[in-house]
This record gives sequence, C-alpha cells and structure tokens, in this order.
Amino acid sequence: VSRIIPVETFDLVVFGGTGDLARRKILPALFKRYCSGQMPEGSQVIGAARSELTEEQYRASVAEALREFAGDAAQDVAAVSGFCDHLHYVAVDARGESGWGDLAALLNEGSVRAFYFSVGPGVYSDLAKGLKRHGLTEANTRIVVEKPFGHDLETAQKLNQELAQYFDESQIYRIDHYLGKETVQNLMAVRFGNMLFEPLWNAQYIDHIQITVAESVGVAGRGEYYERSGAMRDMVQNHLMQLLCLIAMEPPSQFEPDAVRDEKLKVIRALDTVAPHHIVRGQYTAADGADSYREDVDNPRSKTESFIALKCQVNNWRWAGTPFYLRTGKRLSERDSEITVMFKDTPHSIFGDEAGRHRNELNIQLQPNEGITLKVTIKEPGPGGMRLVDVPLDMSFAEALGPKGQGAADAYERLIMDVIRGNQTLFMRDDEVEAAWAWTDPIIRGWEARGDVPKPYDAFSFGPDDAALMMRRDGRNWRGLG
Ligand code: NAD
Repeated sequence: VSRIIPVETFDLVVFGGTGDLARRKILPALFKRYCSGQMPEGSQVIGAARSELTEEQYRASVAEALREFAGDAAQDVAAVSGFCDHLHYVAVDARGESGWGDLAALLNEGSVRAFYFSVGPGVYSDLAKGLKRHGLTEANTRIVVEKPFGHDLETAQKLNQELAQYFDESQIYRIDHYLGKETVQNLMAVRFGNMLFEPLWNAQYIDHIQITVAESVGVAGRGEYYERSGAMRDMVQNHLMQLLCLIAMEPPSQFEPDAVRDEKLKVIRALDTVAPHHIVRGQYTAADGADSYREDVDNPRSKTESFIALKCQVNNWRWAGTPFYLRTGKRLSERDSEITVMFKDTPHSIFGDEAGRHRNELNIQLQPNEGITLKVTIKEPGPGGMRLVDVPLDMSFAEALGPKGQGAADAYERLIMDVIRGNQTLFMRDDEVEAAWAWTDPIIRGWEARGDVPKPYDAFSFGPDDAALMMRRDGRNWRGLG
C-alpha cells in the first residue's frame, strides 16, 4: 500500500540525459513516479547532453530505455507516451557556450528547479559555473551529484570547494543510492521506533557486526574507471561506510537532515585506523568461464583490488570492544548485500549442553531482496525434551504490507523525490564525505607504500581464504552468501 505524498511542480534537468545512468536508473525512476501520480501537471524533465538531438529523437530514445529498464509498467503505451509529454531535450556543452539560452527558455518560473549532474565528476565544476554564469539558478535551486565524489581527501575537498563557490551546502545533494533503499530506512525505524532494540544496541550485548556487499558481476565494461578506483574507493568509502554509520550512530534527536548527518559524522570520526593485518585485499582470477580481473581491465600486472574484507572499530563508549567486519567484492558467488548484527551468547545455558548454544541475529537484507529477519531461539516442537532451535522472526514487509517489493519505491525514485521536496536527510554532507576519505586515505597509502599485491581468488567464490582466516582468528565466521 503506497501512499503518495504530493510534491510541488518541478523542472528536473538531467545533464548527461543520454548516458547510461540516466537511461538505466534516473529516467525509469521518474517514469515510475509519473505512473504513481507524483509528477504534477506542468512538471518537466529536461534531458541535456552534448549530442544534437531533436525532442522527437530524445523522446523516442527514452521510450526505448523505459521499455528496457522500467519493467512491466513500461508495457503500457499510454503511460510511456504520457510521461514523454513531460520530456524535453536541449543540447548543451557544460564546457562551452552554446545551449544555455535554450535551456533557460525552457525553465518555468515558480517550479522547483533541480539539476542532476549525471556526467563524469570532471565536468561538475564547469557545470556548476555554467549554471550560475548563465543565470539558471535561483535561491532554492538544487543540484544532485553522483559518485564518485573525489578520488581521495584532497580531490574531494577541491570538489567541495568548487561547488561551494556556486551553491550553498543546503542546495547540494550528494547521492548514495544505498541510503534510498527501503530497508535502510527501515533499519532506522527498527532502531529508533521500538523499545526492544536500542537498549541492547551496544558492546555489552552485541558480539560483532558484519556488513557485506557482494556482487557476482565483474568489472568488464567499466575497467578503465575501476582500475583507478578499486573496491576500497568504489564501495567501502561510500556505501559500506554509510551503512556502518546508520548502524553505529547515536539516536539523533530528530529525523532531520543535519541531526542525522551530525550523528553519522561522529561515527566516521570515531573509527580507528585499520591495522594492515585487519585488511584483506583480493583480486579475482579466471574460473567457471569468467575472465580474470586482469583480463577484464586489460592490465596483466594490475594491483587493484576487486575485493576487500576489513575489521574496524568505532572508538566510543557504545562500541568499544565490538568489531565491525566489512566485506565487498566483485565476481563473488552470489549477489548479496546485507548487514548482520550478531548478539552475544546467553551468559549461561539453563538447558544444558545438549540443547546447544544459540544467539540472536538481526539480519538486514538489501539485495537481491529487501527485508529484515530476527533469529530467535525457541523450543523444538515435539515431546523430545528441551531442545532448542533457531527460527526467523520475519520482519520483511512481505506479510504485513503485501507482496515483497510491491509499493516499495526504488532507491532512485525515493531519492529524486527527496530532492524535489528539499529533504537532504538521505544525502551525504560535505564534511561526511571528507571524513570518510580521511579514514580511507591512509589505508590506501599504506598498501601503495608497501607495494601490496591483492590475494587471488577464484571468480564466483567467497573471496580469498585470508578473509575467512581473518575472521577465524577472532573465533568468528562470515555469514554465508546468498
Ligand atoms: P555515460 O558516459 O554513459 O554518460 C555521460 C553523459 O554525460 C552523456 O549523456 C554525455 O553526453 C554527457 N556529457 C559528457 N560530457 C558532457 C559535457 N561536457 N557537457 C554536457 N554533457 C556531457 O556515463 P554514466 O555511466 O551515465 O555516468 C554518469 C555519472 O554517474 C558519472 O559521474 C558516473 O560516475 C556516475 N555513476 C554512474 C553509474 C552507472 O551505473 N552508470 C553508477 C554510479 C555512478
């Protein structure tokens, strides 16, 4: 059951409106919001890119993208054509002089105005400057910037400074689509909307936390970008760090942008420096018909990691002694993103050794399906004495709110609508991004200085053995994938 919260009439300009991200995510998300009745009369979606296209050509190419990426809803010809009526196209070169006037002429006075920078980060500052110089911005105009936000602390600071010349921080929406997931917000609802969890949410009751973002795809097609990035920059610095923050942060006094982001920032600043023996880097090798990482990026000597597992610590009163284990990689056996909070064993078993020792686990599943499960211990049914079993207490929305996923907006849908509403809660602030880089940089510099070579792992495996060993040394295990 989805309730539609109305938004004001808007003009959303998608720079890079012909690109891959626009076609796969941004335009399908807008189309779905249109289908849900969240595109008020008079709203416009304006594609802007360098290609010289007519409006008809652009509409046709978007309709094709929708049929490919927007699922069943795009089979409805009338809906696609209704959405396309809101679409316009302008050829603008962010770095040149042409097209800005045409774009200005299209924008409506009085509509919420947002510019989505779906172009490479090298173009951001030219684009910001162009918008200002040609008078396209108003006091509450918003810009949306994609990842990667910087390559390290220095470049992120530079990017922040450049954008700050033209826009106030309250106008800048740094997107991390992980934060737009239904379950991620549900995590906050579970933590702060129940009495049950928060009193136990600390080192006294929680043994450790695991955050896994496993992908089965490789890097083919994105090799050039990935080779300069690696898993640490591409995934850990942003997505995994954001998830860690939401798990570890203190309760904000209100669910408001700066209250939430202040608490997340404190978590990042409390992270310890990770010791080299608490990090395992990996790189996939050819297996099961898949090429190796080095073949995929066409660099036989590549030292870039396609896998990272690390153990870190949030140094504050709440978490001292409870490690956080982070793991992410490409070409793993399953696509599986999840967070697991592993509670401690009961201090004493009154049922004796035969009953077994059991512990509660709270599992937050983000991909491929979203849902939250709490593992609880009960008596095994039957007359066979007091034997204990674990059963999942399923808090996925499936039962309570209709079939899984139904009515749950995709992350991009939610985040784009938040931009239109002017709600920055689920977007990263400048200081958060910089703090995350400040934590990441010394780790990367460390292995660059040591000439660290990633450990090989078979494509479609669980990653390098050392990742499992790192856990086992602590007397723990990674949860299985999938
Ligand atoms: P892309 O190369 O497919 O598209 C880039 C778009 O930018 C094209 O429409 C191009 O015409 C336009 N463009 C480039 N230079 C321009 C200029 N000077 N003036 C005007 N338009 C210009 O790239 P993409 O994959 O769509 O990625 C866009 C951004 O989103 C990048 O920052 C990328 O890192 C980020 N991103 C992409 C994905 C993805 O899945 N594709 C995922 C996460 C982040």
